Amino acid sequence: MSESSLEGWLEYFGFSDPYTNQDDVIESIIKTAEDRGYLAMEGPCGTGKTMASLTAASYLIRETDQFNNAVVVTPVKQQRQQFVEDLRTINTGLEEPLDGVALVGKRDLCPYGREDVFPAGSSVQDRCEDLRENTAELVAEDSELETERQFVTEEGQAPPSQTPGEEKWWDTAKARNLVETARRDPIDEDTEPLHTAGQTSPFPRSQPATTPEMTQSRQLYCPFEAEWYAHDKGSPVTFSADENHVVTAEEFLPESVNTGICPHRAMMVLLENADIVIGNYNHLFDAASRKIVDPILDENTLVIIDEAHRMEERVRDLLTDTIGYSTVKRAERDLGVLLERSRQADKNEQAIERWLAQHDVPLEAVETAKQFYSDVMEWLEERVDAELRDEVDGYGTGLTWNSIPERDFEVQLREPKKPETDEFTRWAEQNDYAGDTLRTLSKVGLAVEDALEQIGNERDCVCTAIGALFGQWWERDHTNYFREIELEYSEKDLQDIEKPWQNYYNASLVMYNCMPSQKIKDILGEFGGGVLMSATLEPLSIFEEVTGLERLATDDEEPRIVSSQTYDLTFPEENRASWIVDVEAFKKRNRGNPSIDNRNKTRERYAYVAREIAISQGNILLAWPNYSEAEWAANRLREDIDKPVLLDQSSSHEETRELKREFVHGEPKVLVTSTRGTLTEGVDYEGDELHTCAVFGIPLVNIGSPRVQAVEHAYGHQFGEENAFTYALTIPAVRQVRQALGRVIRGPEERGVRIVVGERFVPRALHSVYDYFPKNEREELIQMKPDFLESQFKQFWEES
Ligand code: SF4
Repeated sequence: MSESSLEGWLEYFGFSDPYTNQDDVIESIIKTAEDRGYLAMEGPCGTGKTMASLTAASYLIRETDQFNNAVVVTPVKQQRQQFVEDLRTINTGLEEPLDGVALVGKRDLCPYGREDVFPAGSSVQDRCEDLRENTAELVAEDSELETERQFVTEEGQAPPSQTPGEEKWWDTAKARNLVETARRDPIDEDTEPLHTAGQTSPFPRSQPATTPEMTQSRQLYCPFEAEWYAHDKGSPVTFSADENHVVTAEEFLPESVNTGICPHRAMMVLLENADIVIGNYNHLFDAASRKIVDPILDENTLVIIDEAHRMEERVRDLLTDTIGYSTVKRAERDLGVLLERSRQADKNEQAIERWLAQHDVPLEAVETAKQFYSDVMEWLEERVDAELRDEVDGYGTGLTWNSIPERDFEVQLREPKKPETDEFTRWAEQNDYAGDTLRTLSKVGLAVEDALEQIGNERDCVCTAIGALFGQWWERDHTNYFREIELEYSEKDLQDIEKPWQNYYNASLVMYNCMPSQKIKDILGEFGGGVLMSATLEPLSIFEEVTGLERLATDDEEPRIVSSQTYDLTFPEENRASWIVDVEAFKKRNRGNPSIDNRNKTRERYAYVAREIAISQGNILLAWPNYSEAEWAANRLREDIDKPVLLDQSSSHEETRELKREFVHGEPKVLVTSTRGTLTEGVDYEGDELHTCAVFGIPLVNIGSPRVQAVEHAYGHQFGEENAFTYALTIPAVRQVRQALGRVIRGPEERGVRIVVGERFVPRALHSVYDYFPKNEREELIQMKPDFLESQFKQFWEES
C-alpha cells in the first residue's frame, strides 16, 4: 500500500477515527481493486464494512483513473438504507460530494401503478411498455402527430441521458405538445388530479389519448414519459434533491410527480450520472433488471457485493427458468392467430408466406410449432394428473377439494442424482420433436411476431421468448440444469372436472439452475474489481470455489487477483460467552415427529436444554432447524415455564416485524423460531433487546427435495463427490447458524450468550461441523453438558 493512498482515503472516511480493523479493510479493498482484483472479506458486526467499502470506493473513483463509478448490491433493505446513510455521512465532509442514487423497481415508482388506476388485470410492467411504445411512436420526428403550436424546450436542466452517439430521432416540440394536451386545467373540478407520494401531478388520473386533431386514430400515451422526451431524455430532478446528494425514492419520486416527469426515467437519468449506485442482486445478476444499470457498467466499475453469503443461492434462483402452462397456451394462440389469418384468403397466405420468408421460416414450420405447443400442453396436463393421482388420496374422485394439499409440489422429470435425459425431452424425441424443432422455435416465434405486426395485429406475443426457452431446454446440459414440473398452489374459481389440478395449481416446466459459479465468474469478470463481504463467509476457500472466484483467479485468458481476509469480532471478549451444549444429535431418526405427545428420549433431552436456556436472564431467542420443530419447542416450553413464549411462523413481513416489536418490549420473553427464518438474519436486536441466542441442530434445507439432491449431485461433479454434501448443504447451514448467533452482540457495550446445541457442533464428533467455524470463533467455544447450563448462566450474568 502506497503512502499516498493511505493518506488519500482518510479524506473520504465519514468519521473521525476508524474502528479497529476498519483501516485495514479500506486499504485491502483499495489495494486489491488497484490490481483489478476481488477481495472476499468476512467481518463481523462492528467491523464497519459499509463505511469501509464506501470509503474505498470514493477514493478509487476520485483519486485514481481506474474507476468511474461503483455499484453496490445488497439483498437486505435495511442494509441498502445503511449504504445510503453512510454515503451521506461521507458527503457531509466533502466539498464536492459524490453523487449517489438508490434504485427502486418500476412498480413502486409509476404514479399510475401506485394509485392502481390502470385497467384491472393489466400489470404495471406490461401497461407501461405499451404506453411507452405509443409515446415513442407519437414523438418520433416522422410521426403523424400534428404540432400546430410551437413548443420550446426548457433550458438549464440536468444533463440529458441521451445515449452517447445516439442520433436524435424524436421531436421535442411534439413531446411538449403531448404534455400540454394532457395537463389538467387546475380550475376544472370535474377532472380529478393524480395524487401520489404526497404530491399532485399536473395530469389527471386517467391516461390521456390523442384527439382527432392530433392523429387520425386515437392513441393512448403516457404524459410523464412525454415529459422525459420534452427534456431531451433528461430530467429536472437532480442530485440536489437531497442535501447530501444521495437520492432515494423518498426524494426523487415526489419531485418527479410534482414536475410531471416519469419517476422511473428520472431515476435512470440520475443513475447514468451517479458516482455510486445502490441496488440489489437483480441489478447485477438478473438479465431483465440488469438492462437498467447496463449503460453505466464496464471495466471501470467497482463492485461491492454485500451479504455475499447469500449470493450463491440467490443467483441460482435468478438463473432458473420457468415455462408456465398458461404461457405455452399463449404462444400456441400467437401462432394460431397468424395461421387462421393465412387461411382466410389466398392473398393473405401469400403475403404471410412472404413476411415469414424474410426470416427464412416456411409456413409449415409455424404449423409444426403450433402443434408442438398444443402437444406440450396435453403432455403437461396428463403428466400432472398422473402425478397427483399417485400422490394425493382421493384426487380425481369427486372429493378432490377435500384432499388437495395446500402446498407446492415438485415433480421430478429425471432422477436428481442421475444426469440423464429428462422425461419431457424423451417424450419430445419420441414424438418427432427433436433438436431441429426445439432449436428453431424462437426463430419461428420472431417471424410470427413480425408477420402479426405487419397485418396490424397488436397481440402481446410470447412466442419468441417461449421458443428460446424450449431451445435452451434442448441445449442445456443435465448436470447443471435440473428439469422438473413445478406446481404452485393457487386455488381458483374454476371447477374443471376433467383436469381438477387446474383448479388448484399453476403448472410450469422448470430448468432449475444447480451451479451458479460460472455465471458469477463471468459477471464479475466484466468489471474492474471489487469486494464481496459478509459477517459469515468462512470457510473462505470454499466460498471462492462455489462462487466462481477461484475460476476467475485461474482463468486462462485473463486471470484476476482474488484475495481473502477474515476479521475477528473486536468487542470486549469478557462481554460474551460461547457454548457448545453436548447432547445427542437432533436427527430425524432420533427425534421422531414434532408432536407434543412424542416424549422420546431425544425430545425430552432437548426440551430440558431448551427450558434451562429459556429461563435464563433476559430475552432469549431459540432457533430450531425448521418451523415445525419451533412450534413443538414453543408448545413444550409453554407447559414448562412461566416466562412468556412467542412463536414465529412463516408469515408476512409486517407480522414478523410486529412479533419482533412484541419480543423486545416489556418483560423478558422467549422467542422461538426457525434458524432459516427471517428473525435470525438481517435483523438488529440492539442494546438490551437480546441476551441469549441458542441454535438447536444443523438447519439443513429439505434434503428430500429433488432439486436439492440435484444441486448436491452437480456439486459432486464439479467439486468432488467427497465435498458434495458439505459444500452444497452443510456449509450454507453453518453460515445460517452463525448469522443467528451474530444477533446477540451488536455493539461494544452489549453482553450476551451464544449457544449451539447438539453433538454435531462438538469437535471430532461424527459428522462434526466444528471445523467450518472460523478459528477465532472455535477458540471461544466452550463445550459443556446440559446440567452445567444453570451454573454457567449464573456465573456469566453475576460477573456483569
Ligand atoms: S412511463 Fe413512467 S409514468 Fe408512464 S406508465 Fe411507465 S412507469 Fe408509469
